Amino acid sequence: MQLVFASHNAHKRGEVQAIMADVWPSVDIVGPKGDPPEEDGDTFTENALIKARAGFIDSGQPTIADDSGICVDALGGAPGIHSARYSPSGEDTDNVSLLLENLNGVTDRRAYFVCVAALVDGDGEVTIERRWYGTIADAPHGGGGFGYDPVFIPDGQEHTAAEMTAEDKNRVSHRGQAFQALAGALVERYQGV
Ligand code: IMP
Repeated sequence: MQLVFASHNAHKRGEVQAIMADVWPSVDIVGPKGDPPEEDGDTFTENALIKARAGFIDSGQPTIADDSGICVDALGGAPGIHSARYSPSGEDTDNVSLLLENLNGVTDRRAYFVCVAALVDGDGEVTIERRWYGTIADAPHGGGGFGYDPVFIPDGQEHTAAEMTAEDKNRVSHRGQAFQALAGALVERYQGV
């Protein structure tokens, strides 16, 4: 069974491949065929569906997508759906620097990652949302992962997500939880395919 993953983010694609293969070893996940659509939704769910619908139209194959980001309590949930382009350059290191700058002197460091995993195929649409709770560190630590991982300390841990192994992160992260659940739902949906 082949699924298109409608994302041009190679790091996310690698994570999703590894997460889904654990639940559904025979799944073959390929990249998108068309250009990325404009993500102009107001919610993670709308944006995940925009990407999955566009991927399905371009490929004619069942397509999965995700939309994700980090929501910081003291910033009223920002950067939220704008996480990828929080700083003017949109570079991970600039996004992290701006986040730390905006939290300078702020003691409430609570935050959570959100991931909505979506599937669109000829029979309809499925979406699953999961969260990963933690706090924002005072400075970046660790060389793994991507995005805000170097400043995200998951609840119950002393180290950042960028200091976790890929396997450990995938087991517990917002994306790990959402795509484990989606893989389970899709095994049932496509049973016998
Ligand atoms: P998307 O590709 O539109 O879903 O953008 C998600 C953005 O949120 C990424 O570019 C990262 O900045 C951030 N993000 C989402 N998931 C993670 C994660 O697992 N670790 C670190 N940053 C993440």
